[in-house]
Amino acid sequence: MPQPPHSSLQVAAVPAQRVPGRDRDQDGPWHTEAVCRRDEAGLFFAPSKEPTAARLSREDAAKRVCARCPVMVECREHALLQPEPYGVWGGLTAAERRVVLARRRRRDLELKKAARATGRIAAAG
Ligand code: SF4
Repeated sequence: MPQPPHSSLQVAAVPAQRVPGRDRDQDGPWHTEAVCRRDEAGLFFAPSKEPTAARLSREDAAKRVCARCPVMVECREHALLQPEPYGVWGGLTAAERRVVLARRRRRDLELKKAARATGRIAAAG
């Protein structure tokens, strides 16, 4: 059976219910092409009590791995849709994913407002 991405040696820092690959039935075939299937360097998840400088360096290294991964888009969408609260997925940290999700929510709200306004104009027209 193929390994999920992020088979980290440091998954102990991640709550068990959020370990990537746990819900394999819901994961797409992209997992089999993940460059990080064996995260032997422990790049994708933070060990406990990781100093900030070490975290930034580790995350940059993880992002470099993601940059050469053929399934980065699929992985990123998976992490955004779940959403995955920990680790680097699809080249984004958890904080960066929160920013993307907030932007998407704002965009969706603006689209709904525009659609309502257009509907009102059409009804009045
Ligand atoms: S994009 Fe990054 S986190 Fe996602 S599968 Fe590829 S290497 Fe792993």
